[in-house]
Amino acid sequence: MAADTRADFFCPHCDAAYKVVRAKAELGKTYWPIRCKACRGPLAATNGNDLLTYYLVRRNYNWAIYHTTQQAPARLVSFVDNQPNELAAIARAIKEYKIPVRERDGLVARRRD
Ligand SMILES: [Zn+2]
Repeated sequence: MAADTRADFFCPHCDAAYKVVRAKAELGKTYWPIRCKACRGPLAATNGNDLLTYYLVRRNYNWAIYHTTQQAPARLVSFVDNQPNELAAIARAIKEYKIPVRERDGLVARRRD
């Protein structure tokens, strides 16, 4: 994914991708943690003497994976978390749940959040 090549930091709570820009922090000033733009989890405002600014590159979502066919109603296969899009979510489900080849054609992913 091209956008990810710019990312150099991943949220420890939700794996959202960020580009971090550093500047000199003011000595003696207290910097409160920043909230992740995707999950609201705390991110460090400083690192050593550097003040950190986070630019969101990619957020992730939680997905429900369904198997669909012409003949039957959609069947829930699995849940996968922290994937950026439908294709990535399906790929993760196939790998994690070892979904057989014959069932892969009918897979769809729907966002849960
Ligand atoms: Zn986060």
